[in-house]
Amino acid sequence: MTKTVSINAGSSSLKWQLYEMPEEKVLAKGLIERIGLKNSISTVRFGDQKEEQVLDIADHIQAVKILLDDLIKLRIIKDFAEITGVGHRIVAGGEDFEDSTIVDNEVLAKIEKLSALAPLHNPANAAGIRAFKEILPDITSVAVFDTAFHTTMQPATYLYPIPPKYYEEYQIRKYGAHGTSHRYVAQEAAKILGRSLDELKLITAHIGNGVSITANYHGKSIDTSMGFTPLAGPMMGTRSGDIDPAIIPYLVEHDPNLKDSAAVINMLNKQSGLAGVSESSSDMRDIEAGIKAKDPKAVLAYNMFIDRLKKFIGQYFAVLNGADAIIFTAGIGENAVNMRNDVIQGLSWFGIELDPAKNVFGYTGEISSARSKVKVLVIPTDEELVIARDVERLKKKI
Ligand code: ADP
Repeated sequence: MTKTVSINAGSSSLKWQLYEMPEEKVLAKGLIERIGLKNSISTVRFGDQKEEQVLDIADHIQAVKILLDDLIKLRIIKDFAEITGVGHRIVAGGEDFEDSTIVDNEVLAKIEKLSALAPLHNPANAAGIRAFKEILPDITSVAVFDTAFHTTMQPATYLYPIPPKYYEEYQIRKYGAHGTSHRYVAQEAAKILGRSLDELKLITAHIGNGVSITANYHGKSIDTSMGFTPLAGPMMGTRSGDIDPAIIPYLVEHDPNLKDSAAVINMLNKQSGLAGVSESSSDMRDIEAGIKAKDPKAVLAYNMFIDRLKKFIGQYFAVLNGADAIIFTAGIGENAVNMRNDVIQGLSWFGIELDPAKNVFGYTGEISSARSKVKVLVIPTDEELVIARDVERLKKKI
């Protein structure tokens, strides 16, 4: 029996989960927020208890120290020696990483070099790795890449229709993201459907703050909606998703508040999507409340969100030439019953139909009607578990 930590480090946060492996039992989980700011918050949940402390946490190294100290203080573990592995979620793996990998200095340097592809995420992910290496240098450290699952895409899909020198010199191509989640829910879907993944065509829809849709052919990603960066695809919580790229220089030229392309990209990443259109919130629960209160901006934001989702799912029916199932996952996908209903109603021509008794809050598994030609499933994603499993898998290979 060993203990493994899975780490998801953001620029100012660190989400973690401690597992007993191989039992896959969650012993504790936590979230450290506002790293680098005053009044950082560290929350630990274990059993039915919750501990919260507010203190100033300067950087990721200090955050890791606090999380490890808490494990001892709260008697979740007796000794650090019980922890034998740590897995880190890495957003951008570029073309270098087709699978999760043990982290050595060379891998860490590559992750840092790939920061150009994920400037908000990779430096934070690397900081998480460094923090663990400094405090627990002897444990197995594994990097799990969001992009790895999508390295099976073919050039005709991952290349953009622009001169090849931009790929050759600048590595401009589609990389995708959320791969860990797409991989996990596809595997779970095969179990629920009682069929082998090798014979299934699936459309997996990860709809959280970030949104991405993947076409999964016989277990492999053959297309996905995120692109060179996670800004591409359907509309998201604060991201625009796909827009005409000519808008960017046009705004730089005309809007004095947007002085360069970086300012426009920032607006498209952080002030757009549900938040931008509704002018109120990026949170689907607030949008739903706005619709109830007859706020026309919330209604518009919701309708645009559904429109984009429907179009991407429709596209992937063409990419796969038909599909056996659509899988909804992540915060909105798992919980927003009306969203699922509205998206699927718009796809009724395909012979898809929900069972209203099953498309209800809290229900997971198959939610389509018995006569639906395509199954619809709700599967809670569990990226942390995939990370912990990958640590175990790679540890055995050492
Ligand atoms: P992240 O991409 O940050 O991991 P999540 O997968 O946690 O995001 O998804 C966050 C989104 O899930 C938010 O928009 C939130 O409103 C939505 N969400 C969570 N619970 C519900 C719910 N009960 N009904 C509708 N939307 C929900």
